[in-house]
Amino acid sequence: MNRLEHLRSKLDKLDDEFSRRVRRDVEVPCSPHVTLDGRAFTAFCSNDYLGLAGDSRLVEALAEGARRWGVGAGASHLVSGHYTVQHELEERLAAFVGRERALVFSSGFMANMGIIPALVGRGDAIFADRLNHASLIDAMLLSRADLHRFAHLDTAALERQLAASSAGTKLIVSDSVFSMDGDVAPLRELMALAERFDAWLLIDDAHGFGVLGPQGRGAPAEAGISGWRLIQMGTLSKAAGVSGAFVAGEAAVIEWLMQKARTYIFTTGSPPALAHVLLACIDLIESGDERRAHLAALIERLTKGLAQERWKLLPSRTPIQPLVVGDNAAALALGEALMEEGLWIPAIRPPTVPAGSARLRITLSAAHTFADVERLVETVNRLEKTL
Ligand SMILES: *Cc1c(COP(=O)(O)O)cnc(C)c1O
Repeated sequence: MNRLEHLRSKLDKLDDEFSRRVRRDVEVPCSPHVTLDGRAFTAFCSNDYLGLAGDSRLVEALAEGARRWGVGAGASHLVSGHYTVQHELEERLAAFVGRERALVFSSGFMANMGIIPALVGRGDAIFADRLNHASLIDAMLLSRADLHRFAHLDTAALERQLAASSAGTKLIVSDSVFSMDGDVAPLRELMALAERFDAWLLIDDAHGFGVLGPQGRGAPAEAGISGWRLIQMGTLSKAAGVSGAFVAGEAAVIEWLMQKARTYIFTTGSPPALAHVLLACIDLIESGDERRAHLAALIERLTKGLAQERWKLLPSRTPIQPLVVGDNAAALALGEALMEEGLWIPAIRPPTVPAGSARLRITLSAAHTFADVERLVETVNRLEKTL
């Protein structure tokens, strides 16, 4: 077998394990109501929690941003690709989440890959929840610090690991809202441990920003944690509806990240027009209490409505409501049966989630109607008896 044949056989193996992923080409802007191959579906799978990704006011703001700022940055931020509108966005984000300063990256994945290796290296130690996002895991490996992974949400295990460590710099890393489970990390306990063991605390608030906390200021604001040890990252690609990410914290920490985060320094600045539209997104997040209230009502409708006889929802109060099915083939079969009914929720399988916990990751958006959720509930409850 030559190299290419070997690769092909590995692709065939993905099919055997029901773990090959396929993309679907969506034919309309992001919304709960989409068409695929000309057929209409109600989608429960985006992270557009506030329904901003297709908002017509934001479409206008992006067009206006492009007229004002063009389409590209032309260079990396530290050379000549940083614009006043981006400075303004960073100030707005810092004020919104209540921190001294913020730095905007092109994506959440890049932010995490830049932040962690800038903070810790050989001889240091990272303490991480087992279910952290892939970008945090890869960033930890890249940093070459010693890795201690603790069982999901297990602060007692974290405490033991911290007590046993003699590392120079310690960094605790956790998602705020876990992306495939929807549950929320015990942020106040993590902060107390960071203080007790003199560690940094990095919180990835990708799914909390815009959704949790007063006016959507995020999970750290909801938990009431702050202080120089706290470094918070949030994405601008989920509730904010566009793309990009930011890290916020003490001014000196952010200055250090600007000096050292390689995914900030060695990449072209994101288009300044995006900063222009993102300023409008933050306004909509801040004034979005009605959207968040509707979202909360949808979450309640779903969790109360699903019978959960065979398939169980994980405990979650966030718009991420995973319905655990078990094996890959069963999750795929349920996903396909829902497609037949015009409902789109792709099955999430290992390695994205632990083996044996394949699931439909149902996500709700303020753009869903009660009728959308009723239809989902009725269909899943029926399939649970017949599939
Ligand atoms: C989506 C996500 C990221 C990556 O953000 P992007 O902007 O999509 O690159 C990072 N962390 C978590 C927890 C996420 O869910």
